Amino acid sequence: MNPTVNVENKLFFNRYVVDAGRPHITVKPHATPSAQLRALVYMCPAGCYGETEAATIEIIPDGCLECGTCRIVTAGTGEVEWHYPRGGFGILYKFG
Ligand code: SF4
Repeated sequence: MNPTVNVENKLFFNRYVVDAGRPHITVKPHATPSAQLRALVYMCPAGCYGETEAATIEIIPDGCLECGTCRIVTAGTGEVEWHYPRGGFGILYKFG
């Protein structure tokens, strides 16, 4: 029997301190997202990216794992503004 890993169950152990009104990642205003930006809806391991009804991409960084995937994937497009959260905010890894 192969062991299975449920990512959602693992993420449940993390805690996140929201810096209200000061998101550490933002998506620049756009009419049509690049393929890279659109791909983040599927690539972000925390599910922070979503597609709006207007077919643009939005981010709600609450729960961000600070993995940097979105920063690297959109490095050539400049559509994502990425910073680490301020001290005392962001992800708290509880169990590894
Ligand atoms: S840094 Fe990682 S977890 Fe955070 S929003 Fe980007 S892809 Fe998602």
